[in-house]
Amino acid sequence: MVEMKDLSTGTYVPDWCPGCGNFLILNALKKAVVQLKLNPKDVVVVSGIGCSSKLPQWINVFGYHGVHGRGLPVGTGIKLANKKLHVIVIGGDGDVFGEGMNHFIHALRKNINITLLVHDNQIYGLTKGQTSPTSMTGDRSTSSPRGNAFDPINPIALAVAQKTPYIARTFAGDLKHMTNIFADAISFKGFSFVNIFQSCVTWNKHNTNQWFKERVYDLQAEGYKADNIEKAFKKALEGYEKIPIGVFYKEERPLFEDEHPILKKTPLVKQKLEIDIKRFMEELV
Ligand code: SF4
Repeated sequence: MVEMKDLSTGTYVPDWCPGCGNFLILNALKKAVVQLKLNPKDVVVVSGIGCSSKLPQWINVFGYHGVHGRGLPVGTGIKLANKKLHVIVIGGDGDVFGEGMNHFIHALRKNINITLLVHDNQIYGLTKGQTSPTSMTGDRSTSSPRGNAFDPINPIALAVAQKTPYIARTFAGDLKHMTNIFADAISFKGFSFVNIFQSCVTWNKHNTNQWFKERVYDLQAEGYKADNIEKAFKKALEGYEKIPIGVFYKEERPLFEDEHPILKKTPLVKQKLEIDIKRFMEELV
C-alpha cells in the first residue's frame, strides 16, 4: 500500500520560497493519493510553466513538465491514449487562465475524466510579480504600479456557465479541506476542476494567508448541496468579503472516452495501428 514516504522523490527539496502555499498543496496532493490508495504507477501529473508547475518534480509518480498554458491538452492526450491512468493537471492562475485560457474553456465543455488543480495566488510569481488574470482590481504589481485597471476573471463562474461536471474551490491554508477536496475530485468520474486560493509570500502582499483565513467559509459545513446549477452560479458570484470554499457543483455524466466508438473498445495504447506507420513517416519527411 502506498505511503507518504513512497511519494517523495527524495533527492532534493522544492525550491519554492519559504512560506509559499505550494508546499501545502504538494503535501495535500500526496495525502490524497495515499487516501485513495492509488498505485503511483497509475498516476500522471502534468503541468505548464510557473512556480506551481514545478510540482511534478517533487512527487514520485509519472510527471510531465510542459510549456506555458498547455497542461490541459497534454493531459487530455495522455488520458485518451490510456484511460486507465489518473491524470492530474497542475497550473497557476497565469498559466491556466492567461496563456492557457483557450484550453481551459474547451476542457470545461468536454467531459474527459481528468482533474485540473489551479494554484491561484492572483499574481505571476515565477516571472517576478506581474498582474495575472485573477489579480484583484486596483492591486499594485510590478507590471501595474498604479493598480490593476481590470476586473479579475471568475474561473468558478466560467465553469458553472459551462455546466462543468465537478467544480470546487479550496484554500491552501487548510490542509484537511484541501486533501479531502483533492481526493473527492480525483475519484470523481468526469472532468473535475479545483481552484485553490493560495498566498504568494514574495509578490502578493495583499492576498496573504491571513487575508484568506479571515474570509473563507466552508459551503458544505453550512449545509450547501452541490446539485443545483443556478445555486452554484449565485455562490460563484459572491465577492471577496466572504469567500465560499468547497464543492459548488457535482454531476456525473457519460464520459467522452467511454462514448467514443474507437476509445471505448480499449485504451489507444493497447490498440493495433491500422496504418502503415513506416509509409506514413516517409510521407512526412
Ligand atoms: Fe511561491 Fe510566490 Fe515564491 Fe513562487 S514567487 S515560490 S508562488 S512565494
